[in-house]
Amino acid sequence: MDKGKENLIGKSLNELQEIILGFGEKSFRAIQISEWLYRHGVSKIELMTNISRDLTTRLQEKYCIDLPSVITQVASNDGTIKFLLGLKDGFSIEVVRMKEEDHYTFCLSTQVGCALGCKFCATGLVGLKRNLSASEIIGSFIVSKQGLPADTTINIVFMGMGEPLLNYDALKKTISIMIDLHAFGIAQRRITVSTAGINGKIIDLRKNFPGIGIALSVNMLPPEKRDDLMPVNRKHPLSKFLTEIESLKFSKQNPVTIEYVLISNINDSKQQADLLGNMAKKYRFKVNIIPYNPIAEFNYERPSEERIESFISTLIKYKIPVTVRRSKGVESSAGCGQLYITSGTGDA
Ligand code: SAH
Ligand code: SF4
Repeated sequence: MDKGKENLIGKSLNELQEIILGFGEKSFRAIQISEWLYRHGVSKIELMTNISRDLTTRLQEKYCIDLPSVITQVASNDGTIKFLLGLKDGFSIEVVRMKEEDHYTFCLSTQVGCALGCKFCATGLVGLKRNLSASEIIGSFIVSKQGLPADTTINIVFMGMGEPLLNYDALKKTISIMIDLHAFGIAQRRITVSTAGINGKIIDLRKNFPGIGIALSVNMLPPEKRDDLMPVNRKHPLSKFLTEIESLKFSKQNPVTIEYVLISNINDSKQQADLLGNMAKKYRFKVNIIPYNPIAEFNYERPSEERIESFISTLIKYKIPVTVRRSKGVESSAGCGQLYITSGTGDA
């Protein structure tokens, strides 16, 4: 970043308005700047062509446009691209861009690493290095969507590195900018926040963004057995999260999704499928089964196709919506839970 200058990326419309009014300009200029930053993705302030030279010069004295750098980008045959992005302090994060039939899905990170140490997840191996700022999360999105046509339909899932609800303020600010019509204008229903079940945040999140999707990574049943695989369960018991969810109204069109990473001989028994089916029926959840993506450091295995099929056939008897995520980008280690920090020391 230009030394001593503030980054405009990550500023909300309100913040841009304050800046503009501070320059003695009319507030509609802030809308124009927001559109340049987020809709057109300009890389320099002087490229904002409908803004007077006088104002862009004054803006440049104090502000800059600063985005993460692309360290590598690896494409898979299925059209998935995994971006490794460099941050100012030397850390790096990953964004995975997946090509779907009629849209692109961006899997965004919210933290460098993760404190929660789930026993099957590569991100958990490294621990938490630090939170990302809204500016860095938005910046990672802008960089990884460069080159796509302006009218591309985009879905956002906060399922990359980190636990979104443990970086809550930055998450809320990021979502506000994502949905702002003068910024990215993404519909709330196209945004999903995935959580390991952090208590005390979901009601507020829902109040702020009633249309976004919520995904809950359950991964192990019965709940008392969850502590081993997901130590976060000790401090944030699943039962408490379920009580919070129960107090919210979710429509049939936008139910809470349960994520269940299916691991051979750990959580793929018929009895566990029955527990999961019962839970989904009771709370009207949708279930997304994610066959485990292998991580070299762990001894777990993906279940055989027959075991996956038999788990699913038990589940669907409960007449609940079930999907199976055939992970994209596994060959380039861009599948769920395969996101590592591959470089960076944190030294400036
Ligand atoms: N921390 C949040 C969001 C990031 S993890 C959460 O846990 O929900 C995103 C998803 O990847 C979670 O559903 C998690 O259960 C899944 N995941 C983690 N490791 C995995 C692996 N090795 N194979 C498949 N999915 C995995
Ligand atoms: Fe963190 Fe989610 Fe990985 Fe668990 S699954 S370690 S909560 S990123």
